Amino acid sequence: MFPKLGNPKRFDLGKMTKEMVEIEMAAHGGSVVEIYRENGFWKTDRSSRYNRRITAFDTKMILDGPAAGHDLLKTAADPDGRTVIGTINNCAGGITPWGTYLMSEENFHLNFYTGQVKKNGKPKKGLGGDQKEAYRRYRLPGQFHAWGRYHERFNIDKTPNEPNRFGWVVEVDILNPNSTPVKHTAMGRFCHEGCENIISKDGRCIVYMGDDTKFEYVYKFVSKNKYRPDDGDMAIRKENLSLLSEGTLYVARFNDDGSLDWLPLVHGQGGLTAENGFASQAEILIHARMAADQLGATPMDRPEDIEPGRDGKVYVMLTNNSKRKNSSKKKKRHTNAANKREKNLFGHIIEITEREGDNAALKARWDIVVQCGDPSDKDVGASWHPKTSENGWFGSPDNCAVDPEGRLWVATDQGRKWQKTGKSDGLYALEAEGAMRGLSKLFYRVPVGAELCGPRFLPDMRTLFVSVQHPGSDGTTYFDGFNRVSSFDDPATRWPDFREGMPPRPSVVMITKKDGGRIG
Ligand code: CA
Ligand code: CA
Ligand code: CA
Repeated sequence: MFPKLGNPKRFDLGKMTKEMVEIEMAAHGGSVVEIYRENGFWKTDRSSRYNRRITAFDTKMILDGPAAGHDLLKTAADPDGRTVIGTINNCAGGITPWGTYLMSEENFHLNFYTGQVKKNGKPKKGLGGDQKEAYRRYRLPGQFHAWGRYHERFNIDKTPNEPNRFGWVVEVDILNPNSTPVKHTAMGRFCHEGCENIISKDGRCIVYMGDDTKFEYVYKFVSKNKYRPDDGDMAIRKENLSLLSEGTLYVARFNDDGSLDWLPLVHGQGGLTAENGFASQAEILIHARMAADQLGATPMDRPEDIEPGRDGKVYVMLTNNSKRKNSSKKKKRHTNAANKREKNLFGHIIEITEREGDNAALKARWDIVVQCGDPSDKDVGASWHPKTSENGWFGSPDNCAVDPEGRLWVATDQGRKWQKTGKSDGLYALEAEGAMRGLSKLFYRVPVGAELCGPRFLPDMRTLFVSVQHPGSDGTTYFDGFNRVSSFDDPATRWPDFREGMPPRPSVVMITKKDGGRIG
């Protein structure tokens, strides 16, 4: 965004001006854009009343649920602990049956800043005062952006509670462009990825969520109340809009025998008591990672997107974890049955089968669908259906969709480590059921340095939407024929415009069949 800064491996935060910081803040968030199809082509409706921009800079949000108003959420700017400006690091989210969009706040720690730094510019150890342990657990402050130099709320020296106001799921009522987005504290605070949901047999809303960090956990939220289709009845719709405000958050323990327990993050249960440092339900939700530690949840190899399929099946994308090591003093870093490879460079995919096909069940079975990586290299320890071709296998599963036949569509994100597979990122169709389980085929590939995200089919399966994120940025030094850092002035690609003077641009791509037929 700022070509004059050059392209250092890490920004020199001192070079960031207030204007640059505010451009970054306006660039975080999300957009609602109405699109329509005309003569077979998709177009944006620029005059739509639904079009809306949500940013970290100036969009007001409400905190609701059990932690709203808690002391840990109060700041000088918001003495009630119920109103926040903005949302950051929004990763894979979800869409609810009542027509709202769920934005997941992922690596929020990166945006927090301190003036207390070591000679190398990194934050001093042990910051956070009374919240020292929580700061350590949430890797605060990340010191990756200079926002705190100009905006006190992102400076933890001045506003130590502001980080507690990020790391939530944000619900946006896209049908009401003047609505205030809501941060749901009932769904816990962590580096949220994925918010796909399904209505359980008895009508409750079940939301599956990953905490996308090495050795973090898989969660699900079960609403207290039941969903009812509104059929245009605004009173019912209003009830649905509060479904995610009240319910129970669970974390997964993947047992060695293939069973799975969903452990409730509920005050007074499983040692979540004042003696163990959890004075209230609010503190459990604000410090969800620490509560999950206490419950003995299974540390995973970076849970990214989690997608419910049919018959109570749920698919968990575990992208990779180079730090998994049995010689580590920390037991949490050792291999376990559900994460069985040391130095897991390529990740794996787990299938959860909820008991009796009921997504609200508290017990399930789990199984590994594939261990990713090159099946021809024995040292990798990959497992695929033997018919998977040289082009069919992949590494670093990230986002996912499940089609009506129960097939997975897996998008990859290898970052600058793409050269370890020798393949740029792409979308793969992976059989999950029956005799062909584990057979993967390449469907679509993106330029080197891009990651693919957000695969989503229209219900008629005739259009597939994908997002191509930051083409030509990561790992272009390994790309033969370019072999240097890609920059604004000297980009590795000019995808998708391929026009002189136009930089590579992240884009949404719609894929249709030439004959307009069903995909897959
Ligand atoms: Ca992620
Ligand atoms: Ca991603
Ligand atoms: Ca990723």
